[in-house]
Amino acid sequence: MNDNWEALIEGLKNGRPRALSRLITRVENREPGWEEAMRTIYPATGRARIFGITGSPGAGKSTLTKELSLVLLEKGLSIGIIAVDPSSPFSGGALLGDRLRMQALYEVPQVFIRSMATRGRMGGLCHAARDVTRILDAFGKDIILIETVGVGQDEIEIVRVSDSVMVVCVPGQGDGIQAIKAGIMEIADFFVVNKADRDGADELAADINAMLELSTQADGAKPPVLKTSALKKQGIEALADFILRPRAENRHFERKNIREEIMGLLEGDVSRRLRNSLENNQRMNDLVEKIARRETDPYSVMEELLNDLIDKIR
Ligand code: GDP
Repeated sequence: MNDNWEALIEGLKNGRPRALSRLITRVENREPGWEEAMRTIYPATGRARIFGITGSPGAGKSTLTKELSLVLLEKGLSIGIIAVDPSSPFSGGALLGDRLRMQALYEVPQVFIRSMATRGRMGGLCHAARDVTRILDAFGKDIILIETVGVGQDEIEIVRVSDSVMVVCVPGQGDGIQAIKAGIMEIADFFVVNKADRDGADELAADINAMLELSTQADGAKPPVLKTSALKKQGIEALADFILRPRAENRHFERKNIREEIMGLLEGDVSRRLRNSLENNQRMNDLVEKIARRETDPYSVMEELLNDLIDKIR
């Protein structure tokens, strides 16, 4: 690992926001040495509480994130926010809106906000968000909020990075509950009916509860449904208390995520590394010759090589 990385990690340990920023950028760009940097950081992670915030555009996620952050700050907690932008860093629109709404937070030193574009990201949001989350965690952030814009696969992926996922719904969006996309209900650890200052919030909360009654297994805990008005700053204190409840022991879930992460990392790396190491490999060359002479075939060779690899893991 070169000096630069070491200096950045030292800066991270000493709480320097610039080092934090640069480290995130370099890891995101997969600059040489990023894996070792993450390895060095890893032991200092596992302390932060990580929440995913999702829901359709306009539900008030940014406003809610801002208000929630202000309440958490008052409780003396430091906060990292990852705002996931649907497209490119240059798309303006959504991001600019977020920026404006979160402006109050940009000046607070205890808050670190990072925007993250999803377009063109290899391996999707999940890897990148996980790394950024870990760096923020190692930096000492108490709470990390990952806000998605509510498009496609992203909100499903935040499950793998977050301790718990909050789905934000609002009254008066189409057919109420129907407006909540399929797939989203399943990932919610709890629901927030925002814009409760509008008509229909109680009905929507009742609808969600009714639907949860139907879908929750007999032994499973039913996800709670909270109500807020981010605009009128109502229900935010209760939301903050709710997310600060002691973390449920969910060892099975955590280990499953670790397994998935290892598999994901392997899948990303295996073929590239194999290709490199078999490039000028004598055994490979011999096998190629044998196949050319029709003494064996590619299928058997693949099987043979793969079995050797798997034997090594056993
Ligand atoms: P996001 O797209 O989910 O991040 O939603 P925004 O936070 O950008 O909010 C979308 C719009 O809803 C903005 O005009 C907000 O001012 C408004 N909004 C947010 N929260 C509330 C609320 O609790 N009540 C009402 N009436 N409007 C809200």
